Amino acid sequence: MLPRLDQIPKKLYLGLQMVTKNKFSTRCVHEGEIKDTMYQGIVSPLFMSTTYPWFGGDSETKPYPRYFNTPNQEFLSKKIASLENGEKALIFTSGMAAISTSIMANVKSGDHIIFQDDLYGGTRNFIQTEFDKFGIEYSFTNSLDPKSFSDEIKDNTVGIYVETPSNPLLKIVDLKSVSSIAKEKGIWTMIDNTFASPVNQNPIDHGIDIVIHSATKYLGGHSDISAGAVISSELRIEKILNSAKNFGGNLSDYTVWLLERSMKTLLIRVKEQTNNAKILAKMLDENTNISRVYYPGLESHPSHELAKSQMNDFGAMMSFDLNKNVDVYDFLKSLKIIKPGMSLAGVETTVNFPMKTSHGLMTQEERDIQGIGDKLIRLSVGIESYEDLYEDLDQAIKLSIK
Ligand SMILES: *Cc1c(COP(=O)(O)O)cnc(C)c1O
Repeated sequence: MLPRLDQIPKKLYLGLQMVTKNKFSTRCVHEGEIKDTMYQGIVSPLFMSTTYPWFGGDSETKPYPRYFNTPNQEFLSKKIASLENGEKALIFTSGMAAISTSIMANVKSGDHIIFQDDLYGGTRNFIQTEFDKFGIEYSFTNSLDPKSFSDEIKDNTVGIYVETPSNPLLKIVDLKSVSSIAKEKGIWTMIDNTFASPVNQNPIDHGIDIVIHSATKYLGGHSDISAGAVISSELRIEKILNSAKNFGGNLSDYTVWLLERSMKTLLIRVKEQTNNAKILAKMLDENTNISRVYYPGLESHPSHELAKSQMNDFGAMMSFDLNKNVDVYDFLKSLKIIKPGMSLAGVETTVNFPMKTSHGLMTQEERDIQGIGDKLIRLSVGIESYEDLYEDLDQAIKLSIK
């Protein structure tokens, strides 16, 4: 008689790859891959089943998509956790599902959370439209200085949420200082690490408790997958998982499989994007039709030294202010290679106009406070030749001077 599935250690029938100490590039390719024990194929098999035998053991430990424990979810989450130096991870259907679930799992009515002032628009909207309904208190910091975070701490504060580098001005939060402020008070810290990606910043190494990614961005990297992820200690992931089962934001196994495919090239993509960005930032900084470039890799960036100390490299996102005499709409229309795009981080370079898109719902005054001007362009650098990219930007600017 054949043994029942629950009598065979999972490790054997799935060909479990144990968590390794391999280098980052090797982990991108191999960590958490599922061995094809039937045909010895090179890539992870895709298990689309939503139902498994109920007999034996605890029904909660049986694979089921909404328990975040189907084979493909479970194994890709090992890769993601390992790339962020965390113990465990969960994969969600979007970045916002990861953000909202992780926050709601760690707060209750009457609690207070501190958020940094510059936040992804969707996160800000989530806070401002949902928190009041549940009696959750919040404050936004006055600046990104560590003191601004400690100034907001109240008796009922349970956590601090940061996002660095920030959107769209690439401002930097001091992770070590913020995490030690939180540790002193016994409260949690959470970071949206989307802009840096695990290649360029690993916040757990700086004492941050919970790391979130919109995997729609660098982890996916080809502008064709919507996904999110959260990485933390085993204990904290267990707590988030308990809420996640109720909110139901698991990613379909087919998309999980595609995400694994994308993540094999995470390092080479983001490395190339970052190298392009470093060169382009310097070239744009010298362009007399651009009044200012915002990129943490430039020595002129106010937090350049801080970025250097806590990031592995400076990332591939930047923004710049066009001179007053350059028409933004003419500029956007004149680009030939670079495409306008709301989102970011794909292998193809895209531009965004924050005043009309991500920050379009803010008042002029709110934008002025954050320094988001009406000539500000955000650039997500891809893997094309930086020479072609510069040429494209420069010719479009020249055609748009009034
Ligand atoms: C896109 C983005 C999100 C939201 O992710 P979705 O996958 O669109 O839900 C959150 N944070 C940052 C910084 C982002 O860029």
